[in-house]
Amino acid sequence: MKAVFYEGDRRIRVGTCTPRPPGPNEVQIQVAYGGICGTDLHIFHGAMDRRVRMPQIMGHEMSGRVHAVGSQVQGIRVGDPVTVMPLDPCGVCPACQAGHSHICHNLKFLGIDTPGAFQSFWTVPAHTVFRLPETLSLQQAALIEPLAVACHDVRLGEVKAGDQVVVIGGGPIGTLIALVAREQGAHVLVSDVNPHRLALIQELGFQVVNPLEEDLPGLVQQQTNGAGADVVFEVSGSAAGARTMTELLRTRGLAVVVAIFGQPPAVDLFRVFWRELRLRGVRVYEQEDFQRAIELAASGRLPLDKLITSVRPLEQLQAGFEEMEQGGANMKILLEV
Ligand SMILES: [Zn+2]
Ligand SMILES: [Zn+2]
Repeated sequence: MKAVFYEGDRRIRVGTCTPRPPGPNEVQIQVAYGGICGTDLHIFHGAMDRRVRMPQIMGHEMSGRVHAVGSQVQGIRVGDPVTVMPLDPCGVCPACQAGHSHICHNLKFLGIDTPGAFQSFWTVPAHTVFRLPETLSLQQAALIEPLAVACHDVRLGEVKAGDQVVVIGGGPIGTLIALVAREQGAHVLVSDVNPHRLALIQELGFQVVNPLEEDLPGLVQQQTNGAGADVVFEVSGSAAGARTMTELLRTRGLAVVVAIFGQPPAVDLFRVFWRELRLRGVRVYEQEDFQRAIELAASGRLPLDKLITSVRPLEQLQAGFEEMEQGGANMKILLEV
């Protein structure tokens, strides 16, 4: 069977590996499509060399069909279309005990801390497997994982109908957040500095703004009669985004920190104090977010096809990374496994 390996220092090797049969509580999936995530690009750049075990099979966004099930597994049958919620929590740490196993202190993330989905057959714990409706295309189903991130973010962002929402950062996650927030009935404005991405997001029917060319805080003020936005999602991970998010919010508005900041950014805590703002971090997803993502994708209401920039054979993972590095209007690149 095929697999692609990260071997350090931007090296990708296309090779083979032996499929691992499922243990009693495991499921073996024949992978159909895998999505390349920013995290995979991060691994490729060597930023996670101390965490991954080389040669590492990456990939945690995927769809496929069940190939074999372990002896103890119930409710999942060979041939079922499925996707995977790639979290394996310890079950005993304080976070798990408190019911927050998705941010377990000892969380194993499949595809980073274990072999991932960029291989023909992927064997995973049964509790991570979600069945899909037959009506959902497997290409679109490969977007369920990032869509579940967006569902989690919008849920914890408490977005309501009629809210003015600002999304800072219009990459795949920012765009999916915008789509899910619109489903909740919010007015959504997306801010990004990449004109190609802005054009695509505008095509999806969103108001867009390039903060390098327009006065974003002024615009939000004006649109809300001086009140400010109800919810701001910081998805850019930029110093400018962290600085701006509090400036955009109304009294008691909510800033949702989605991005992973490499360095602690400057945040205007005076503004947090002055307007009694709330600040909330969000990470990955919970089971209900995965369910909601599957429902939303299956409903056909979201233009998920427009977010798929290209579909390449598995062997072209490296070319996929290079395509992502070029920027442009890239959203999601899928690998056909
Ligand atoms: Zn991802
Ligand atoms: Zn735990």
